[in-house]
This record gives sequence, C-alpha cells and structure tokens, in this order.
Amino acid sequence: MNKEFAFETLAVRAGQERSQFGEHSEALYLTSSFVFESAAQAAARFSGEEPGNVYARFTNPTVTMFTDRLAALEGAEGCVATASGMAAILATAMALLKAGDHVVASQSIFGATQQLFGNILGKFGVTTSFVVGTEPAAFRAALANNTKLVFIETPSNPLTEVFDIAAIAEVAHAAGALLAVDNCFCTPALQRPLEFGADLVIHSATKYLDGQGRVLGGAVLGKSALTDEVFKFLRTTGPTLSAFNAWIILKGLETLKIRMQAQSASALAIAQWLEAQPQVQRVFYPGLASHPQHALAMRQQAGGGAILSFEVKGGREAAWRVVDQCKLLSITANLGDTKSTITHPSSTTHGRITAEARAAAGIKEGLLRIAVGLEAVSDITADLARGLHPSGRLQLK
Ligand SMILES: *Cc1c(COP(=O)(O)O)cnc(C)c1O
Repeated sequence: MNKEFAFETLAVRAGQERSQFGEHSEALYLTSSFVFESAAQAAARFSGEEPGNVYARFTNPTVTMFTDRLAALEGAEGCVATASGMAAILATAMALLKAGDHVVASQSIFGATQQLFGNILGKFGVTTSFVVGTEPAAFRAALANNTKLVFIETPSNPLTEVFDIAAIAEVAHAAGALLAVDNCFCTPALQRPLEFGADLVIHSATKYLDGQGRVLGGAVLGKSALTDEVFKFLRTTGPTLSAFNAWIILKGLETLKIRMQAQSASALAIAQWLEAQPQVQRVFYPGLASHPQHALAMRQQAGGGAILSFEVKGGREAAWRVVDQCKLLSITANLGDTKSTITHPSSTTHGRITAEARAAAGIKEGLLRIAVGLEAVSDITADLARGLHPSGRLQLK
C-alpha cells in the first residue's frame, strides 16, 4: 500500500499479509526457523537469490508486517526493526560508522543515547561532539571534516526544545554527513522527519508506537541503501525485534493517530491550566503560544505532542510535594503510555549528571515532567492541584 491511502488507512491496513487461513487480524508467527521445499530452494533462500524467510534473526513475517506498516507511516523506503530503541541507535552507529569517524549530537538527547555516543563508541574510535542549544549554526560549528552523522531528538526531553530539522539537515548535508532524528516523542502521526530532509528516523517503539506500555521495540527508517546496511548488522549480531513484540506494536500502530491527537489535545489543555496557576513559574510545551519556538513547532509538527514540563515555585521541596500528592498519575520516568506519568528530572532521569551540567541544561530543581495519557483532563489537573495548592484552595476548573 502506498501514497494513495491516507495515514489512518495505512495505520490499520499497510503491510498485512494473510496466510492460507485468510485470518482477518494479523497473524503472530512464533517460529525461530522456516522450512524449505527442496535442497535447491534452501540454497536459493540462503544465497538471497529467492526472497523469503530463513531464520527469525533475519526475518519473520509478523516483524515484516510491522516494518512495512511503519515504513508506510513515516513515508520511508526502508525500515528495520530492533529489540529496543537503544538497539536501533546502536545498530545505526555500528552499521554506518567506523573508527576515525566523528558524530555531532545534540546535548539534549536521551540519557542512554548520550552514554552510547559519549562513552561506548569512543572505545571503538568514534568520537562525538555534543552541541548545546538548538541553533543550526551551533551544529555547523561542531562539524569536522570526518563528521559522518548528526543526531538530534525533537522536541527534546524534558524542556521540549524544538530543533529545525530542515535547517540542520542542510547543515549536515553541506558537510557530507547524514542526519538522524529520534522521532520518539512525536511519532509519524505528528512529525515526519524524512519530509524535512532527514536521512534516518529512529524509534523507540516501546513508547507511543506500542502506546500501552507492554513491550520493548525499536526501528530505523530511511532510504533502503542505508537501512540495508543496518539490516546486515542486525542479522549477524542479533538485537532484532521478536515476533511477539512486533505483533503487539503492529496492533498499537492502528490507534497511533487517534491516541496522539487525543493525548496532544489533553497536554495542551493541561499546559494552559498550569500556566494559569500562581504556584507555577513556567510551562514548557511546544503547543503553547508562549513557547519560544511555537511557530517552528507548528510548521514541523501536526500537534504539540503529549510531553510537557513545568517549573513550580519553591524548588525541589515544592516539586516533590506535587509528585507525592499524586494519586492518579504514575510516578515513573517512563512515557508513551495511555496512563499519565510524572517525574522529577533533576533527581531521576537527569540525576546522574553534575549539578553544574544540569544548571547549564536549564533543568531546575522545581522542574517536573508529565507524559500525558488518555485519562480525563479534569482528573489529571485535580491530581496536580492537590500538591500545588496544599492549603486546600483548589482551582479545579
Ligand atoms: C526510551 C527512549 C529511547 C530508548 O528506547 P528503549 O526502547 O528504551 O531502548 C531512545 N530515545 C528516546 C527519546 C526515548 O524516550
């Protein structure tokens, strides 16, 4: 299925293959290997002369249904599935970089991604420069003549800074480097980085693609010439997506757009409510007119997304009180679930970096991050109001 169908249709139908039974729902093929009709067919499958399944470390029909569907949604030629989001980033780096190469990465990326580029890849001779802020000029200044990859995540966690994908793609391409965008927060329902000139899209399918907090998974998308290289690394080394997880996430994709639209709309309503609370210093959400990059976000995204953060007056003590008064929101750093979550970044996700580095990144002691789920907005604001208004004067509108 291709461009003639709308996103909603592709999300439900793309990639589905039926077996001889004509099942209506996508089949889950729990098998590690596949049998051949003859010695000649086995030989042809192994050599790649004949397309088809051989062994589940290489391909599995359920996993292929997932990659075909996600490729249709991102508008990508190629897609490979991985065991987790981190496996997607690792496989991309191992497939496309070699000793002596240089990476330019945003400082505002997922913590484990920072560790991977900053520590692990360094052992193999790949160096990384981290860029502070969103300015394309800062990315240009960090480039070297051996830069092969530029890596960003937009909007960023937890301050929802927005990066101009088209402008940074131009900067990367002028230096002969590829641009990879971690599209975890927006998903293709709200943002399609390849349309803005990115070369690679990375997903932690663990988050919104599954959408219900059940399994881990990941994906890499882009031109087939690139994803084929990532596939070669995966089929040899093995951090591939299991058929069971692929089946769960495949079904998650069917409701992706309505979930993202509903969760985005709720996030905007909650951000607006928070902005009106006297105990709140500042709210960070790309869908708010007060966001410094609101115009860019609305050009690049079809909604603000479901992640917001806000600073309460009174520092850590006041922030922890809000967390501890939550009876509904789950106290966890996870995100991308139908259940709303709340976390205090400076003592959790960003707790291991130094206080100076946190201050430089703008992550204050009063900052809280919420990943908005599908509960009623009024129930979420009531939960937050309890800790924000300990005197009991609730503003529950
Ligand atoms: C969670 C996350 C990852 C890592 O994904 P896993 O599936 O946990 O390995 C990468 N990037 C972002 C933005 C994430 O939120």
